[in-house]
Amino acid sequence: MSSLRLSIDIGGTHLRSRLSGLKNTIEKSQLTAQSNLIEFIKEYLVEYPSIEFIGISFAGQVTDGRILSSPNITVSHKNIKEYFQNKYPNLHLAIDNDLNCAILAESQYHKQPYIAALFIGTGLGAGVMDNRKLIRGYNNQSFELGHIPYKKAPFVCGCGKDNCIELYASGLGLERWLTYSNSKYTAKDLKILIEQKHPIAIQFQTALLHAIATLITLTNSKTIILGGGVISKNSYLLDYIQENLPSQVMPSSLKGVNILLSSLENASLDGAGLLED
Ligand SMILES: [Zn+2]
Repeated sequence: MSSLRLSIDIGGTHLRSRLSGLKNTIEKSQLTAQSNLIEFIKEYLVEYPSIEFIGISFAGQVTDGRILSSPNITVSHKNIKEYFQNKYPNLHLAIDNDLNCAILAESQYHKQPYIAALFIGTGLGAGVMDNRKLIRGYNNQSFELGHIPYKKAPFVCGCGKDNCIELYASGLGLERWLTYSNSKYTAKDLKILIEQKHPIAIQFQTALLHAIATLITLTNSKTIILGGGVISKNSYLLDYIQENLPSQVMPSSLKGVNILLSSLENASLDGAGLLED
């Protein structure tokens, strides 16, 4: 029997997992709000004590196995790697930012050395691979694109600021603007809102375009992958982006650049399985 490996992807909305190495792969999905990540892992380890490796894709800021901050997720033990490896000395555990995980999976899939991913789900994140090297920064927080300063909003981001682009171009941002304006619509109605040219939808599209233009200008990637729940449910956004990007990016930065929708069902979960201890 091959070794048991547990991959976990925890985002602002869903916690998804995949246990491989058994005859049949076990996949689970549940709501993050109803989940306790630490207990979730412990339950797996009770049922399958021979798990050798756990890879976690985490929608927040993570470095050296520690959670630095998590704007949309509550976790009881921040030093998650140390916590589990003290209790289970033979266990290998790696945790990384969800977009770092996603770009690992996307670069493997596309075999493209200069590639970046921009995913919009509950939040907005990006991951960048430059000549096959994941750009991390000193504290593993490079390309926290969702938190670049954009415009002041009437509410505060999970990171503590009130001007993050994530407040405009993300599922939660959309939801908060709709609630703020007492709209009967929710973020799930984005397509209807765009068809109506609703100001909140226009604001969303404009911020999305700004985020992608910024990513292209700063990274000079050849391939840009768009993914995450909000994008995958609204794939028509790609046409809007293709049409309007030339007015936002200098022509030489766009030369030869491909913008594609993710072909992977869950790139972050796949990437969690590719992490190394
Ligand atoms: Zn923020």
